[in-house]
Amino acid sequence: MTYDPKAVFQSKEQIKAMQEKKLQEAVAYLNEHSPFYKELFTKSGFNTKGIRTIEDLSVIPTTVKEDLQQRNDDFLCVPRNKIIEYSSTSGTLGSPVTIALTEHDLERLTYNEYNSFISAGATPDDTYQLMLTLDRQFMAGMAYYSGLRKLGAGIIRLGPGVPSLQWETILRLKPTAIVAVPSFILKMIAYAAEHRIDVNACSVKAAICVGENIRNGDFSLNILGKKITDAWDIRLLSTYASTEMQTAFTECSECQGGHLQPELLIVELLDEMNKPVGAGQPGEVTITTLGVEGMPLLRYKTGDICSYHDEPCACGRNSLRLSPVFGRKKQMIKFKGTTLYPPALFDLLNEMEEVNDFVAEVYSNEIGMDEVLLHLSAANHTEENDRKIRAYLQARLRVIPQLRYITAEEIQKLQFPEGGRKAIKFIDRRN
Ligand SMILES: [Zn+2]
Repeated sequence: MTYDPKAVFQSKEQIKAMQEKKLQEAVAYLNEHSPFYKELFTKSGFNTKGIRTIEDLSVIPTTVKEDLQQRNDDFLCVPRNKIIEYSSTSGTLGSPVTIALTEHDLERLTYNEYNSFISAGATPDDTYQLMLTLDRQFMAGMAYYSGLRKLGAGIIRLGPGVPSLQWETILRLKPTAIVAVPSFILKMIAYAAEHRIDVNACSVKAAICVGENIRNGDFSLNILGKKITDAWDIRLLSTYASTEMQTAFTECSECQGGHLQPELLIVELLDEMNKPVGAGQPGEVTITTLGVEGMPLLRYKTGDICSYHDEPCACGRNSLRLSPVFGRKKQMIKFKGTTLYPPALFDLLNEMEEVNDFVAEVYSNEIGMDEVLLHLSAANHTEENDRKIRAYLQARLRVIPQLRYITAEEIQKLQFPEGGRKAIKFIDRRN
């Protein structure tokens, strides 16, 4: 392996030069091995040798999720017998995509997560309880496991859900940290309160949070993050990744955004016209993988909307940092004159004590406008409870979505349809 964990501490100029060398290699590799990109280069009449700098990237057309869905096999750069792992995207938006990894890619993935855990302050003395699946073709679970192994930390693979088993194991094996979905940490806290477990007396001192935001755009803790830390005095660190990029952006001790690992990925934030946005402006996370062998991607638009910050970080890392994900581009809701991303809606719902759990549904009404229906499991079924919820939504959203009260079991069914590995909190039924 030729990766250098110190790469991220180099000067910005050194980082750029290193990335450009790797970019040239990546483009040459794609031109030789990728049926999809070979065709793209030929069609657009490219001299791939002309791609030398990060700025040169802008002439290459972007790749979108639909390309990966429709021509999945054409992205594969190696013969089938070199594939070790078949990972897949979770398929929350459209049909799932297979991302095939070679042995080399698995090593890269391990290195990536090793770096992530170091950024988050993990040491070989830690023991991590993993509250996510390692099955169902889920790449991240495997990445956490292998990254922690490389670090030499202890690992408890407990899988998702079942607060009783999570607590029993924490009390017995005394992990120092957990990797979990933040809303599940809230469920853990609720379970502990019901069963007289003192969360602050337990061994867990940090949580790596995946899948949901714990911070606002200014990096202060959001409602979900605050709810957790108000009850449980643990350090929360956020990590953001996607199967397609095979690379994580993880916060450092400063908690000022997830650091790019510049030796593994080039990231651009693009507007609607595919032009780069400035620092602090929302744009679509667009990635170019570096050093991937099986299914490398060039200017792949992830659909996630973030902003970036590029001032040097107090931790000493000089790579760009990404904000929390504001939302998925396709999930943007235009609801009665307001523009809204599901995570902002989730924040509001998480804040309400009157709501235990929820699923938000959006559909098109008869005139093609977005309508929002909230499936709620209420704290209690009184008129007072309902009145409070409506008043709060009116105050915060200016409009009240349709509300439908259902039981906790019904919510569970909506969140985990058969075969689901992540809780679904958002259902998009728009045309
Ligand atoms: Zn930092």
